[in-house]
Amino acid sequence: MENFKVDILGIEYKVLVNQNRKDYPLLEEADGFTDFTTKKIIIEELKKGPRNWEDMDTYFRQVLRHEIVHAFLHESGLDSNTDWARNEEIVDWIAIQFPKLKKAFKEAKEEMS
Ligand SMILES: [Zn+2]
Repeated sequence: MENFKVDILGIEYKVLVNQNRKDYPLLEEADGFTDFTTKKIIIEELKKGPRNWEDMDTYFRQVLRHEIVHAFLHESGLDSNTDWARNEEIVDWIAIQFPKLKKAFKEAKEEMS
């Protein structure tokens, strides 16, 4: 997968995929992180293997959604002034549940029309 850009509330973030811990030591602590100072989302090279998840594409999408949620909360000014917006549990809940929320919203719209 190539690097790409994503629009976060009008701010362009670069998503750098397949990165390594030598270049980005913060990857020692997580599989991805968001650098608000440079507007970059950094995701480690996620390799399939016996010591990792079997479906790394699904895991990659979950990590990416998690970091995008962080970026949205930061760019909206919430993460520096609220406790909940810095709460990893909430960020992860949104990241994990978003596909199901999206499906439910879509179904609800179809029921209403
Ligand atoms: Zn996080």
